[in-house]
Amino acid sequence: MTPRKGVTSDRKQSRAKAKSASPRPSVPTGRGRTVTEPRPKGATTPGREVLPQMIAVLKKTYPGATCALTHADPLQLLVATILSAQCTDARVNMVTPGLFRKFPTAADFARADLETLAGEIRSTGFFMNKARSILGCCRQLVDRHGGQVPADLDALVALPGVGRKTANVVLGTAFGIAAGVVVDTHVKRLSGRLGLSVETDPEKIEADLMAIVPREDWIAFSHLLILHGRARCDARKPDCAGCEIGALCPKILDRA
Ligand code: SF4
Repeated sequence: MTPRKGVTSDRKQSRAKAKSASPRPSVPTGRGRTVTEPRPKGATTPGREVLPQMIAVLKKTYPGATCALTHADPLQLLVATILSAQCTDARVNMVTPGLFRKFPTAADFARADLETLAGEIRSTGFFMNKARSILGCCRQLVDRHGGQVPADLDALVALPGVGRKTANVVLGTAFGIAAGVVVDTHVKRLSGRLGLSVETDPEKIEADLMAIVPREDWIAFSHLLILHGRARCDARKPDCAGCEIGALCPKILDRA
């Protein structure tokens, strides 16, 4: 069927409008790549218009929001973040006090026996993979960084078992460096429900968030979404009726 001229023109105009209203700059991923792919057809991001109000309400709701992983230094936060994959922060916080007493430095982790380390972190799940990551990571810290955690995105993502999420957690919380936005399972889910990103890949979601969240809020923003995800916007049963940002949220629940 030949499309009517007016319809075609409207579509062209709305496409152009959407493009100008929602620019997608190329954002470095920290691995020498950039994110520039087009959005899925028909997808919208209505939450972007009210994002400043959402951030303001979330800041009031969760004053002093910060990382829930117990740590005393960048190394402890790095190890705790590796352990937090597919595991609750509460469970990680039960394991790490004893772990950090046995392995107080990167050199101590680097010298650890794989099986022994895996046994120490067993309850966090995927313990063999996590033990390999911690060993490999700490060996590189000793070999290349004098046993210290580097405050640099590219150096962090070059470590075994360290991706952008872990690097952003360490940079943001341990060093106060806003290199990106942490996208964990809560941030991923809420970014969709709040109409801030239509993407499903964490690096693409992060690129979207970096383009619309003011840089001074990058670190706090992920903490706020994580807390709100736990308190109200549960994966299975979101409490929309009691939600502090319910009046601003487009409630795109089919993308969760
Ligand atoms: S609980 Fe409902 S209203 Fe609140 S952020 Fe989640 S989807 Fe939106």
